[in-house]
Amino acid sequence: MFRALVVEKAESGETQASIQDVDEARLPDGDVTVAVEYSTVNYKDGLCLGPGGGLVRTYPHVPGIDFAGTVEASDNPDFKPGDKVVLTGWRVGEVQWGGYAEKARVKGEWLVPLPDGLTTRQAMAVGTAGFTAMLAVSALEAHGMVPGVGPVLVTGAAGGVGSVATAILAHLGYEVAAVTGRPDTAEYLRGLGANRIVARADLAETVRRPLESETWAGCVDAVGGPMLARVLGQMQYGASVASVGLAGGANLPATVIPFLLRGVNLLGIDSVMQPTESRQRAWQRIARDLPMAKLEEMIVPATLGDLPDLGANILKGQVRGRVVVDVR
Ligand code: NDP
Repeated sequence: MFRALVVEKAESGETQASIQDVDEARLPDGDVTVAVEYSTVNYKDGLCLGPGGGLVRTYPHVPGIDFAGTVEASDNPDFKPGDKVVLTGWRVGEVQWGGYAEKARVKGEWLVPLPDGLTTRQAMAVGTAGFTAMLAVSALEAHGMVPGVGPVLVTGAAGGVGSVATAILAHLGYEVAAVTGRPDTAEYLRGLGANRIVARADLAETVRRPLESETWAGCVDAVGGPMLARVLGQMQYGASVASVGLAGGANLPATVIPFLLRGVNLLGIDSVMQPTESRQRAWQRIARDLPMAKLEEMIVPATLGDLPDLGANILKGQVRGRVVVDVR
């Protein structure tokens, strides 16, 4: 038996989460069983802790899209008992049981060996949000962004993706402009390395002019919606926006003018189905380019029992930084 946070759905459609002792025989199919040490809370976890937003297929369900821990049993030649591993994405925690449990079973090909220099706790402080922030920064650099060319905008900056993106960019020498709707997070964001705080309200208005002054040399966008549309018109000639999230909406009420007249690029970032090699590269880079002292400043510690409240809070944009859940 192992402890897990189990979400059940009543006939009325209401969901209820509770900590239960679960028989190991109920774990899903997979060739590697992991003794989970830490998990985390991403925006998607907020959805899966509640009615699921269409992500969860069957109930009872154990959410948790990320976990880190130690291999307990393995039929996969790439992993042996005692190996430290990280899992993010592959729809674990959505369509199959995830990391809000003392044990998880998955396909070995989904696991990434914990990079040297990272603990399982730090890996979950990074989690899908931080991994995605790293993918976004790498994509912007692959499209020509280099330090010294101007400020890089991070939207939803006090959230998980935004916090990690801010810390990585600042560490790499970029000038970071952090957009937040929570003025009380300004000191926190400056501590992560933001040079400038931009009020969410300054970018809240919908596009009135398709082009505004050329301001940003790059953008990691966790917000989408009208804010992304507005940002596109403020990008420097040839600059790129990495579109990561939709915390502010999935619609993009924009014009194509910034693409046509300024050669602006909109880069899509997906963390869920990212191929293994690129995952391993991103995790290696995280261990190198994300200062661990800054990561520590982002951490909100939690236990399994805190998760229902934290899930509701992240959907309201009220979680600051990164939650680390000690599942043991
Ligand atoms: P968080 O909730 O931690 O961060 C989102 C931040 O967005 C909030 O903290 C808030 O920042 C800002 N925000 C919230 N609501 C609004 C709004 N209505 N208008 C403008 N800003 C808003 O979530 P995560 O960082 O975990 O995820 C961010 C987004 O990225 C989500 O949409 C998530 O689904 C997506 N995502 C996508 C991935 C991918 O593979 N593409 C992977 C991971 C996440 P502040 O208070 O500072 O303004």
